[in-house]
Amino acid sequence: RIQAALPSIRHLISGGARLVLCSHLGRPKGEPDPQFSLRPAAVRLGELLGQEVFFAGDCVGEDAQVKRGTLDSGQVVLLENTRFHVGEKSNDPEFAEALAGTAALFVNDAFGTAHRAHGSTEGVTHHVENSAMGLLIERELDFLCEKLVDPGRPFLVILGGKKVSDKIEVITALLEKADVFIVGGAMAYTFLKAQGFEVGDSLVEEEKIGLAREILSKAADKGVKFLLPADSRVTKEFREGADTKVTEAYSAGGGIADGWEGIDIGDRAIEEFSAEIRKARTVVWNGPMGVFEMSSFEKGTREVARAVAASNALTIVGGGDSVTAVKKYDLGDRMSFISTGGGASLELLEGKKLPGVAALTDL
Ligand code: AMP
Repeated sequence: RIQAALPSIRHLISGGARLVLCSHLGRPKGEPDPQFSLRPAAVRLGELLGQEVFFAGDCVGEDAQVKRGTLDSGQVVLLENTRFHVGEKSNDPEFAEALAGTAALFVNDAFGTAHRAHGSTEGVTHHVENSAMGLLIERELDFLCEKLVDPGRPFLVILGGKKVSDKIEVITALLEKADVFIVGGAMAYTFLKAQGFEVGDSLVEEEKIGLAREILSKAADKGVKFLLPADSRVTKEFREGADTKVTEAYSAGGGIADGWEGIDIGDRAIEEFSAEIRKARTVVWNGPMGVFEMSSFEKGTREVARAVAASNALTIVGGGDSVTAVKKYDLGDRMSFISTGGGASLELLEGKKLPGVAALTDL
């Protein structure tokens, strides 16, 4: 995240700004908590910039004011974690005003929190003359919005991860745009069950089965290809090193017996998904195909990551876990774009306005 913010920081320094940086780290409970101090980030940023980065031990108050006031052009101060104050998340106007201080310009480059109206993302914009987006947010919007207005086709969306309920709005929004969907991960079992297949002890959201059916029939009406795993890798034990096997294809009467849990897509699914990825001109990928954190269950996610990396399509990876997977397999350089914001990237794909972006000055 520090690296991703460097282009904007360098740009502002070279323009002669007196730069006051604020950010958050972890989930402190609205009060100081030393384990979430940003002090080490000031040191690291100083190394990366090759200049001293001053540090204020509180993001508002006297120390911050004094350190801000004595900055020369091109100098930088990093403020302590904004989440050490309850006013950050509650978007308290007094907190936001104190944070803005006498700043002339606010630059928001925090894409990962742009979907939240917090003091440092939205509140602060009411207390400065102008607010702009940084280069990172600009790039995120370019890939997650602009480039998908008129995508190269076929436009393929790959979704995985745990819950259908987390991804429903994305599916609904992208059904209007995409040509092909691939659904893997635990969420696939709700769809497979909706189609009448046995899924054993796999994770299923029973109350979403009706919705899964609706999505499948909507996709069929629109002529959108909706691919579910042809087979699954299953286990009796959810632990590293557990024995696994691949089921018969669902279409050939396969399914998952009671006592077994689907933890990854099967080999036939890997082949089918990879073939589809090869045909695509635009790929958006959000969510792993299985429990890739454990090597016994990682094959599907790894092979899908490799197929996306090898494709000639515009490839956009969003969402915390698929980004972790891409990094795990060292394929980051081979993707067109990797989003730095899980929740924010999903909301953009859902077609929502991000409060942190909507609040910027419309010049
Ligand atoms: P999400 O946060 O919804 O993107 O889900 C990511 C998590 O889903 C990862 O931690 C995966 O381990 C998990 N996951 C993916 N496939 C499965 C599966 N078949 N069964 C259980 N967990 C899964």
